Amino acid sequence: MNTEIEYSIVIPVYNEEAVIEQTYARLKQVMDQADGPYELIFVNDGSCDRSFDIIKSLRDKDSTVKLISFSRNFGHQIAITAGMEHGSGAAVVVIDADLQDPPELILDMIAKWKEGYDVVYAKRLSRKGETFFKKQTAHLFYRLLRASTDIEIPVDTGDFRLLDRKVCNEMKRLPEKNRYVRGLVSWVGFRQTAVEYERDERLAGKTKYSLKKMLKLSLDGLTSFSFKPIKLASYAGGLLIVSGLVYLLILLLLKAGSGSAISGWNLVMAVQFLLTGVLLSMLGIIGEYIGRIYDETRDRPLYIVSECYGIKQKERRLKKVGEKYVV
Ligand code: UDP
Ligand code: MG
Repeated sequence: MNTEIEYSIVIPVYNEEAVIEQTYARLKQVMDQADGPYELIFVNDGSCDRSFDIIKSLRDKDSTVKLISFSRNFGHQIAITAGMEHGSGAAVVVIDADLQDPPELILDMIAKWKEGYDVVYAKRLSRKGETFFKKQTAHLFYRLLRASTDIEIPVDTGDFRLLDRKVCNEMKRLPEKNRYVRGLVSWVGFRQTAVEYERDERLAGKTKYSLKKMLKLSLDGLTSFSFKPIKLASYAGGLLIVSGLVYLLILLLLKAGSGSAISGWNLVMAVQFLLTGVLLSMLGIIGEYIGRIYDETRDRPLYIVSECYGIKQKERRLKKVGEKYVV
C-alpha cells in the first residue's frame, strides 16, 4: 500500500479552543473520502487558551494529526507558511480553524488539482456573519490592491486554497519576512483556478484578526506587490509644480492686461506651490531608489521555470542556511 502522504491540510490556530474538536471531526469526515493518505497539520500560533492541549490529545489518539507549536503569536501568515514548509503531501491545503471555510470544498479542490491545476483557490461569493465594516474594507482593499499591482491577485480570495507540491517548493524560496501569502502564490504562477463558495459564519469564538492585524496584512499586501504608494509623492509633486506655474502665468497675464502690481499674497502662494512641488518630487525620487533597494533585499528569485525541453533543469536542492533557503 502506498503510505506516502498525498494531502497535507494546514490549519493555523490562535485561541480556537471552542472550535478545534469540531473542525477536526469535519476535516476527518471529508478527508476520509479523499483517495489518498493525508495529514492534518495544526499550527498553534502561540495560543494562550487550551488549544495546544486539545490538539495534543487529538494527536495522541490519531497519528494523522501533526502539531507545530510556536513559542509566541507570530501571526496567521507566518503560521500558514510554517505549515506549508512542514507538510510532505503532493498537495497542500490551507484552511482556517473556525469552519468559515467549508472543509467539503477541499474535495472540489482536489478534483480540479487532478484536472491539472497547480493552485486551486477558493473565491468567496458572500461572507456571512461578518461586520459591515469588515466586509466593506475587505472589498475595497482587494480592489485597491488589484488596481495598484501588475500581478494578477484574485479579488475576494483568502488563504483557503490547494497548492501543488511544486508551488509549495517555490514558496520556500521566498525568504521575505512581511509575507502576504496569497499574493506570493499568485506571484509564483503556474496553472491557477478558482472554486466558488459562500463563506460561513465563524462556528464559535471571536475573530482573531484585530483591526491592527488587518491593517498590517493590507499594508504587507500593498507594499509587497506595488510601488504605487511611493510614486504618489512624485505625482503630487508634479501636479503642484504645474499648478504653481499656471498660477504664476495667470498672475503675469493679469499684470500685463491691467497693469496693476501682483499682490504679495498671490506671489507667495504661487512660489509656495512650486517649492512644495519640487520638494515632493525629490521625495518621490528618493522613494524610487528605496523601492529598488527594497526589491533587491526581498531576495525573490528572478524567474521560476515550469518545464524544460531538451535541457536538463538544474536539480534544485533546498538547503537551509540560517533562516534562508538556498538552492
Ligand atoms: N490566526 C492565527 N494567528 C493569528 C490570527 C489568526 O493563526 O494571529 C488563525 C485563526 O485561528 C484562524 C485563521 O487564522 O484559524 C483566520 O483567523 P480569523 O478566523 O480570526 O480571521 P477572520 O476569518 O475573522 O478574518
Ligand atoms: Mg474566520
